[in-house]
Amino acid sequence: MMLGRSWGMRVGVGMGCCKFGNLILLFSKKTFLSLSWQVSLISVYSCALVLLIWWLYSMYFVPKLHERFSFWVLLKDIRPFFKKSEHFHVPNDDHQAKHQSHHELKFHGTDGPLQTVYSSEYGASHQHWHATCNNLGIATNRSHMSGSNVGCWTSLTGVTPESRERSYSATAYYRPNSGRPNLVLLSEATVQEVVLEKAEGEWVAKGVRFVHGEKEHVVTAEGEIIICAGSVQSPQLLELSGIGNPDILKAAGIESKVDNPNVGENLQDHMSTY
Ligand SMILES: Cc1cc2nc3c(=O)[nH]c(=O)nc-3n(C[C@H](O)[C@H](O)[C@H](O)COP(=O)(O)OP(=O)(O)OC[C@H]3O[C@@H](n4cnc5c(N)ncnc54)[C@H](O)[C@@H]3O)c2cc1C
Repeated sequence: MMLGRSWGMRVGVGMGCCKFGNLILLFSKKTFLSLSWQVSLISVYSCALVLLIWWLYSMYFVPKLHERFSFWVLLKDIRPFFKKSEHFHVPNDDHQAKHQSHHELKFHGTDGPLQTVYSSEYGASHQHWHATCNNLGIATNRSHMSGSNVGCWTSLTGVTPESRERSYSATAYYRPNSGRPNLVLLSEATVQEVVLEKAEGEWVAKGVRFVHGEKEHVVTAEGEIIICAGSVQSPQLLELSGIGNPDILKAAGIESKVDNPNVGENLQDHMSTY
């Protein structure tokens, strides 16, 4: 794959794209890791490569967004989607007392497709986790899905309670819908570019160019194209399509179509201790 700049990783076999009605979704089956960045190893299934922790990122640590939107606006906009996707299984009283599996039901969904549950067993160190943090001045956060995950808390997992199997986008969303006639999943394909065409003076995304079976294809969209190639590769794909900082694109020999210097910038990782 042509890289517009050094992204510090190699993109391997097994990518794909998916046409869902009028939508085209981009994803991949296998992406190799290198140096500092890990990217998904599993097809389509965003949220497959996780430690199975179900959490909502802390709104306090989104300074760039925070400058534009208030904490509560962000919370209001994002939370409905978390709740809609979640089926939270409430721990019993014994579990709550023993493992400090605190929660506030109003911040959880109860009939979504993704199953969330507290672990049934914890390692020996967990019994000291809260007290140790508290002694260090780190308070227990009794509502870590409220919009702030600052503090010490017991993590929820994306796991089906009965079978204790992972519950994620593949099991919750793809499998139940895989037989639908308007859903096509094409694995082993690498998207190279979002094809833009000019309409009334503006660039409009019309399709995607991808390689599958060593052949190049272009698929067009009647509706929208959703880029969901992850935090690292989404901006990469935008740049490869001519959307980004013109100076960077020029240096990489890519025609600049949409001038947006924010593409590929301002990435922040999160910190936590387990
Ligand atoms: C080791 C690890 C552990 C994590 N643990 C947790 C956790 O416990 N809880 C949690 O909430 N989050 C966790 N995360 C973060 C979580 O995995 C991501 O936030 C989430 O997967 C992002 O989803 P996404 O759909 O945006 O992107 P991704 O899941 O990265 O999906 C993007 C997909 O697009 C594909 N793709 C990229 N470029 C192309 C292309 N050109 N053509 C075709 N396909 C392409 C990629 O290969 C990938 O499959 C973890 C992340 C890592 C790395």
